[in-house]
Amino acid sequence: MRKKMVAGNWKMNGGLASNESLLQQLRSVDVSRAGMVVFPPFPYLQQCVDHAAGSGLEIGAQDLSEFENGAYTGEVSGGMLAELGCRYVLVGHSERRTLHGETNEQVARKAVAAHRAGLVPVVCVGETRAERESERTEAVIGSQLAALLGVAGSDVLASAVLAYEPVWAIGTGLTASPEQAQEVHAFIRTRVAAVDASRASTLQILYGGSVKGANAATLFAMPDVDGGLVGGASLVATEFLEIHRAAAFAA
Ligand code: PEP
Repeated sequence: MRKKMVAGNWKMNGGLASNESLLQQLRSVDVSRAGMVVFPPFPYLQQCVDHAAGSGLEIGAQDLSEFENGAYTGEVSGGMLAELGCRYVLVGHSERRTLHGETNEQVARKAVAAHRAGLVPVVCVGETRAERESERTEAVIGSQLAALLGVAGSDVLASAVLAYEPVWAIGTGLTASPEQAQEVHAFIRTRVAAVDASRASTLQILYGGSVKGANAATLFAMPDVDGGLVGGASLVATEFLEIHRAAAFAA
């Protein structure tokens, strides 16, 4: 059976003092039934890695360069993140795709870069509201996956996590219904199975988009939903721990 996990994307939020208080509450989490990883902004990674040491809490970065080193001002490589003690990295979050123009192919190259650096890429896919309304959800997610599988191949999936994040549900308070999430997660698993059936059965696929303590349990009860990628609610310890409990009990 796949172990559930919850991942907290802090986005561009936090500060030394507020991080410390949040981490104090998260570091005692019991990860035997469901894992936990948080994605702080770059300047706080060292602080978070230090605070999480000796606990089950894992730390990840919100992005990485597709390149290993060189003249890429402002970029951070996977090797640097791994050296710091990060284990995960978000790749292709919708905010990177829309605000920074990341393409499906670039996202795939970043997943490869993460894999080469020994990091677990959490690769985000999802459709916009207009795409869903015009019944193009599977076509859009199908092309995002095709680029990933075409460029990165199934080897990268051996150490990757996928996250289905409908763009219309991120930070909007609108959540996909458990049935809508299940439908897309099953579609993703089927597409991966066409390339690598055994990897598809063990692949963790997280749902993201306005996950809260109140709706986590019904989402995580779906057979192909292996946990959540949580934005806003991951900044509130009680809320994030409640979401984690829902994942642990759904396991
Ligand atoms: C996210 O940032 O990936 C996200 C899903 O945000 P929220 O939970 O706030 O919708």
